[in-house]
Amino acid sequence: MLRAGAPGASMTGALELPATSLRAWPPQPAPLRVVGGGREARRQMLGQMRGFWKEQNRVRRERIQAEVEAAQARQAEAHAYWDRHKATVKQQWATRTTGRGQTMVADIPEVAAQWHQDNGARSEDVSATADRKKGPYLWECPLGLGHEPWSATPKDRVLHGAGCPSCRQLIRLVDISTLAAQYCGPTPVSDMKYAAHERVPWTCRTWAVDPANGSWWPVEHHFEAVVKERALQADACRVCAGYVVDDTNSLHTWFPEIADELDDPDADACRLPTTRHNVPRRQAAGEESGGVYATFPWRCRRGHCWEATILNRVQGGGCPSCSLSGISKEQVRLVAELAGLIPLVPPGPTDPRLPDDLPDFSSHQLVVPPQHKPDHWRYKAVEVDAVFQLAVGTRIGVEYDGAFHHSIKRRDRRQYENEKGQVLVAAGLLDLLVHVRLGDLPPLETAQALAVPVPERSTAYQQACAAAAAIEARFPGSVPGLDAYLVGGHSRRQDQADAFIVALWGELRPPRRRPARTQPRRLRPLKETPPHNDSLLTPAGAPYRNPDRPKEILRDYSCACGNPRLFTAVQAQVTSGNTKSCRCLQRQAKRQWRAPPVPRGDSSGA
Ligand SMILES: [Zn+2]
Ligand SMILES: [Zn+2]
Ligand SMILES: [Zn+2]
Ligand SMILES: [Zn+2]
Repeated sequence: MLRAGAPGASMTGALELPATSLRAWPPQPAPLRVVGGGREARRQMLGQMRGFWKEQNRVRRERIQAEVEAAQARQAEAHAYWDRHKATVKQQWATRTTGRGQTMVADIPEVAAQWHQDNGARSEDVSATADRKKGPYLWECPLGLGHEPWSATPKDRVLHGAGCPSCRQLIRLVDISTLAAQYCGPTPVSDMKYAAHERVPWTCRTWAVDPANGSWWPVEHHFEAVVKERALQADACRVCAGYVVDDTNSLHTWFPEIADELDDPDADACRLPTTRHNVPRRQAAGEESGGVYATFPWRCRRGHCWEATILNRVQGGGCPSCSLSGISKEQVRLVAELAGLIPLVPPGPTDPRLPDDLPDFSSHQLVVPPQHKPDHWRYKAVEVDAVFQLAVGTRIGVEYDGAFHHSIKRRDRRQYENEKGQVLVAAGLLDLLVHVRLGDLPPLETAQALAVPVPERSTAYQQACAAAAAIEARFPGSVPGLDAYLVGGHSRRQDQADAFIVALWGELRPPRRRPARTQPRRLRPLKETPPHNDSLLTPAGAPYRNPDRPKEILRDYSCACGNPRLFTAVQAQVTSGNTKSCRCLQRQAKRQWRAPPVPRGDSSGA
């Protein structure tokens, strides 16, 4: 648990590292400027950490490439040197002037130059054709590459032109010092070929951000990779690149509040990524694959269940049932005022975001019994902005028909507004539905609804006065404090409305300038493009950007195969037809491919 107070706890024991060993780490990056501790701040910190990792790996990659090139150049030079050496030696041997058996090592100057001083004899006294019987002699590599002296017989050297065996060897991992520093395999680094196909463990030493306070900590990333891929393709650290998830980059570390809502016993939030969806669902949770952009089940604190990608969650996507899209702040202000005059009926379980003593001003979902639901209604649940229990034993609903209703031009929607009161009253759920209507909305054509027109720019107090007066007129004695309220001349419950708005929206008014939007360069607006004609996919929302690759536009889709999970894909791929299904087509194709082959006897007759 990384949060609160124990920043290094999950950072693989980084804190216990002796200070001297920090020399193995790159220099500590500049401190982050952290604004607030909210999700947006953490998203920014995460982005900066990723940026640092990316830059580190770019530098390391360049170094590895340079080291490999230098090693290869050295190797080529050494090969060329010993090839020339061999030719020269053979030529010096062929053109010797001494008689048969008289030639000494010293007579072949090319070889004699490498005679080691520790040899017990002088090159003038040792025959150029001496073999094992006389014992091998030591030779010194002339190339200054730090090679150990090697032993060989003069015969080998003079007649066969043999050179320094270290120079002939393939490049070892030890020659690529940046990689050698990360290598943790069992074979000694000096014995490991740099192009080996072996998969070995590595350690990347870098810095990670503690999301609790934005400070940098030295950390070690542990991962496995094939030696050749790291040396020749300069593959970077797989944790830095996001392919491997550990405590420095997991969903649990960065967004514990989201991790807590994960409703999948098979998925481990400590091993799930934060935004990039490179952990296939298959890998995270058994066989079922929801695609590259895997969808996970979530359960909010009020017990609602829904499905979404991690990306969607990290970008701010919340529980659709707890969504605020149906509630307006103006509605909250009116309901708060009315709740000071007539008893408010709480809407279901209390929203845990609200302080204990604050009434819940959010909307009700009234469920219409099947026998009362009109056939053309799609849903049996009806949203009513507020419900009040009047002293006279009457239950009324209040609807705030604000600016949103002006935009509703569609007839079917208007018909629904008219039917709403009728159905709710017929079903016995309400005795009356009061519509507080702003501006010049069309009249309601039903007896079960009471329309209270209020001016476009009226205050919550003015609206509450009009609504309460209308309710009192319809149900005399139902609003006992009405006269005092009307005389009072000012609102009474806006402090509660403010508290409710702050608890749910996080602020009273949207900030004037959204910092996230002003920073990056302007990106082209998101265009919706339809799926390909052959596609099984249907869009289930607007397109949005991949925060890791802002040029990539993603979209959630539902698949015609009946897969209940939404499937996130790159919109352009779906439009071009490269992605046609939730992968059910591929799975189907694979299953057919795996079908047992037709026995030979049968096929010959066909
Ligand atoms: Zn050598
Ligand atoms: Zn790393
Ligand atoms: Zn919810
Ligand atoms: Zn499908």
